[in-house]
Amino acid sequence: MNNSETLEKQCANKGMRMTEQRKIIARVIESTIDHPDVEELYERAIKIDKNISLSTLYRTLNLFEEAGLVAKHDFKDGRARFELIPEQHHDHLIDVRSGKVIEFRNEEIEAIQEVIARRLGYKLVDHRLELYGVPLKEKTKSDL
Ligand SMILES: [Zn+2]
Repeated sequence: MNNSETLEKQCANKGMRMTEQRKIIARVIESTIDHPDVEELYERAIKIDKNISLSTLYRTLNLFEEAGLVAKHDFKDGRARFELIPEQHHDHLIDVRSGKVIEFRNEEIEAIQEVIARRLGYKLVDHRLELYGVPLKEKTKSDL
């Protein structure tokens, strides 16, 4: 789905009018390696242009999401998180103690989901999988 083109270019390709503020927001999302929420994206965006409003940010994120370029996640902490739709699909494990989000991909899970959908009479086109966990072992002083 994704390619080497910038998010800005991909938006333009979809016929989106790219204002200066939308370009900045696109660049902010593109430069993130984590799964920021709106507040975090806002902090990063206003460092570049302090005139960007929270409502512009919300509207732009919705546009990007509707265009299928940005994924919105709900990791059950009451904050929507955003990331670029990656070239290769991945799933997430959320550490419920620290809120840390770990990305993973498992071919067996990918395959079994296709099988389940097919058995139910469907061709799988998308899925979401989130695992919630606590660390198996508390870090003690001797581990550090
Ligand atoms: Zn991710």
